[in-house]
Amino acid sequence: MAKSDKVLKRDKQIISPSYTRSIPFVIDRGMGWHVWDVDGKSYLDFSSGIAVMNIGHCNPDVVKAVKDQAEKLIHSASTDFYSDMIIDVAERLQDVTPGSFKKKVFFTNSGTESNECALKLARWKKKKHRIISFIGSFHGRTFGSMTLSGSNALHKEHFGPLVPGITHIPFPYPYRPVFGNEKTCGDDTLAYLEEDILGKVVPENEVAAIMTEPIQGENGYIIPPADFLKKLQKFCRKHKFLLIVDEVQTGFGRSGKWFASDVFGIEPDIVTLAKSIASGMPMGACVSRKEIMDWPKGAHASTFSGNPIACAAAKASIDYIKRNKVWKNAERLGKHGLDFLKDLKEDFNRKHNRKFYIGDVRGQGLLLALEFVKSRETKEPATKASEKILNSCFKKGLVTLHAGESTVRLVPPLVIPKEDFDKGLHILTDVLNKM
Ligand code: PLP
Repeated sequence: MAKSDKVLKRDKQIISPSYTRSIPFVIDRGMGWHVWDVDGKSYLDFSSGIAVMNIGHCNPDVVKAVKDQAEKLIHSASTDFYSDMIIDVAERLQDVTPGSFKKKVFFTNSGTESNECALKLARWKKKKHRIISFIGSFHGRTFGSMTLSGSNALHKEHFGPLVPGITHIPFPYPYRPVFGNEKTCGDDTLAYLEEDILGKVVPENEVAAIMTEPIQGENGYIIPPADFLKKLQKFCRKHKFLLIVDEVQTGFGRSGKWFASDVFGIEPDIVTLAKSIASGMPMGACVSRKEIMDWPKGAHASTFSGNPIACAAAKASIDYIKRNKVWKNAERLGKHGLDFLKDLKEDFNRKHNRKFYIGDVRGQGLLLALEFVKSRETKEPATKASEKILNSCFKKGLVTLHAGESTVRLVPPLVIPKEDFDKGLHILTDVLNKM
């Protein structure tokens, strides 16, 4: 019996079945953009451990920083004692996050905690309780973040009552616009928000903030029209709402810039971070304009906040990204990858009477996605086909991720060389051509 099979069997006995595994991958080790299973088989990693390993698995700078720190101090209780390490990371975050204004930072242990912090901070600062969020968004699994999310009703089933005061509106999804068409859906969303939501449903003077992902991640890399976020920011300023942007998945060079907010030219009032911030060490952060985070001692805290090993990893990661301008490779390969996927779509869809088609391809930096549909006219999601593609890629040595109802995400480490990036794209092409 293969070692992988044994692990799958043991896992089934004791691990929560709520984990969202879609391929039988039993990971053993990783290096750069390669991962190995417990049976010694190697794979190209186009998942980056769910967009975490932007600078590659076991990046030597990070490994050294973690080892050195582990010998010195493992826990600092930073909410009760002082430590220069959290300041070192906070100063770096102030420097690289969108907006050249002064900021304040609260450290968390995950993306969902960063978003809980943002939700609490917005309510605290504005002394108002309502938040507007988007359908299709994903912000995490704890109560506030779960309520803010709108990507899958299953995430909320039987968990209610949820957090009151959160209203969801459609996100401008150019391939499936709820309002208007591919080009106008951004403006039409804002008109709906102004006229219908604020006019008829939600009293404007009770709203603390609007929260959004700049590009929806778990929903399948949904990229809004280019000017939407700038207009949303203007809308927030006009109505005196805070703008919270969740950069948990899109941050740290992934989008081809430091942050996706930079791609769209916005400067959010609050930014939430996690995933790649510390290259796999559990860490997140909520970063706000300085004047917003002025809550009193005890209003928010956490035992592990700013853990020293996570701080050492974050410092090494941010310095590595800066020194090597890692976002540039993401931008260059992202453009190349998107062109490749556009050609693949055209070639694949040329043959008629297929059981499924590539409905849409999209990308920004190394956030690339293919959405599969049963028919290009009805756009009915081809969920089974996308699951099959994921599994066939895996069998051929390529690890990818599922998203939305029928989307495959390609999220390799940003440091991958073109040659290996192309190898992955050719495995995907091969899989599609054989289906
Ligand atoms: N926000 C976004 C945009 C995410 O993609 C995720 C996780 O996928 C989260 C928040 C939640 O992060 P975590 O799983 O670290 O709690």
